[in-house]
Amino acid sequence: MNLDMKDKPRLAISFSGGRSSAVMLRLCLLDYRFSHDIRITFANTGQEHEETLRFVDAVDRNFCKPMGYSVTWIEAVTMGPGKGPQAKVVTYETASRDGEPFEAAIAKHGVFCKSHPGCTEKIKTEPMKWFLKSQGWNYGTYDTAIGIRHDERFLRESASAKENRIIYPLFKMEWNKRMVNLFMEQFDWDLNLPSDAYGNCVGCFKKSNRKLMTVAKTNPEFFDFFGRMERKYGMVNKGNWDMTEPRVFFRENRSAQDILKAAQTERFEPYEDDKFDQREFFDDFLDAGTSCGETCEIYGE
Ligand code: SF4
Repeated sequence: MNLDMKDKPRLAISFSGGRSSAVMLRLCLLDYRFSHDIRITFANTGQEHEETLRFVDAVDRNFCKPMGYSVTWIEAVTMGPGKGPQAKVVTYETASRDGEPFEAAIAKHGVFCKSHPGCTEKIKTEPMKWFLKSQGWNYGTYDTAIGIRHDERFLRESASAKENRIIYPLFKMEWNKRMVNLFMEQFDWDLNLPSDAYGNCVGCFKKSNRKLMTVAKTNPEFFDFFGRMERKYGMVNKGNWDMTEPRVFFRENRSAQDILKAAQTERFEPYEDDKFDQREFFDDFLDAGTSCGETCEIYGE
């Protein structure tokens, strides 16, 4: 049966800019391109590594375009009081590299942290929903595909997956990290970050202390934005908090400056891909958060 586009089920592919997400995207296009109406979005925060942005563009050119699709790059547009975020379309060339979409959300909601999360929702999930609605895709009329792997499912599968119509295509064939890496390594345009510590927002507060301190030791400049946000907006949106000190991003009430200092003064073994996920090397203080901080997927909070 040849279905008209308007009769086809809808699938929104949320591409996070990581390898697992790229594999998920490819599987979706291979499996559903004839049966579904598909939209693909990447939500740029402005704090991703330049290599992540190059990879998103490469996935677009090598996986999507040959099958007649493209990745739509969007950025959150934070609105005034009482209004949810909207989105604007950007390109690889015009995408923010200085955190502007992220900063606008912080200016309104305050510094995000473990006890005050919400940046994924404000600069990824809600803007993506708004963008799709602007295309005539009302919320509830489409499934959303997310690139969480089979080996991450217990930690990262959303409790509201069914009600939000979230699907996890990598669960079906039990794709794990090793399989994803082996698959992607065949492409000369594969993601080439210094390590997994540099994925998504490079200074993301959900990453483990080891990842953050490793980045801070090698590339302290990635913490400039987070330090500036703490100084500028640390007292914003105090809510019911008895807050006399500015709110800071990192766990154990650490500031960007504290992470930079710890990276220079504390003894630690720098992060290496895969090593510190293993029980024998896992350190409760240094490695807590490694799995959750590995990628930043919509509906992840
Ligand atoms: S990567 Fe981290 S800091 Fe960036 S939007 Fe996601 S949760 Fe927030």
